[in-house]
Amino acid sequence: MVTGRFAPSPTGPLHMGSLVAALASWLDARASGGRWLLRIEDLDRARCVPGAAEEILRALERLGLTWDGDIAWQSRRVSLYEAALEKLRANTYWCGCSRREIADSSLGLAADGAQIYPATCRVGLDGKPRRALRVRTGSEEVRFEDRVQGPQSQVLERDVGDFVVYRGDGIVPYQLAVVVDDAAQRITDVVRGADLLDSTARQIHLQNLLGVPTPRYLHVPAVVNAAGEKLSKQTGAAPVSGTAKELRAALAFLGQPATTLDEAVQAWNPALIPRRRAAALPR
Ligand code: GLU
Repeated sequence: MVTGRFAPSPTGPLHMGSLVAALASWLDARASGGRWLLRIEDLDRARCVPGAAEEILRALERLGLTWDGDIAWQSRRVSLYEAALEKLRANTYWCGCSRREIADSSLGLAADGAQIYPATCRVGLDGKPRRALRVRTGSEEVRFEDRVQGPQSQVLERDVGDFVVYRGDGIVPYQLAVVVDDAAQRITDVVRGADLLDSTARQIHLQNLLGVPTPRYLHVPAVVNAAGEKLSKQTGAAPVSGTAKELRAALAFLGQPATTLDEAVQAWNPALIPRRRAAALPR
């Protein structure tokens, strides 16, 4: 059975970017009679805003985006991530490099703007403190076919570098948690914003190392503001509360001719979604 999910980080209320991702994922699952699960990605406590998760849930309810089963709160699932880290042990190593050292020795910037780590500590910590656990990447191409964005490929060692799967301060980062949970929740179809397109190869790498299946991926364009910045709390995105007008704007953004949720689920057609990584809302 098709199983989709929405996995917001409770760092603030829903904005049009997250509403578009939730709607696309809900429609994709419901149009094929599938299940739709909700997961709150609240591992990075410092970034979570009290009450934001409840506000997101209320907006989803108002929109009619109903979910199945219990909500998975990542902060209550830490033992699952620890078990995965244990499984990855042969492929991980401690890194003692500070931000400064990484910037100085970086191989350049990855697509998401992060430094490409040159694997300095693969040979050992050399007396440095344990700052982060990194997973080894390789020189083979990781490929996948995105249902909207088309064929994708990355050579992780060259394009991203060995990446962090556990932070010295005890935080489990997104890349590991998302892979563990998508597998545990038996997600068949990940539908989300294209700001995460470049994370997908890392996630497939972890799936391969953990021996779990790779879901299908569909990345919708990220919503950007008039200045071309991705909507987020930092760029001052307006909160959405789940009105019919917001729903219509999100459907138009996704290229769907429908104006209500019922119509949209009947006529869901991912081929109409613009094949772009980012777009502004239609005026
Ligand atoms: N929690 C992530 C976010 O809010 C989404 C993760 C995902 O869909 O894979 O951006």
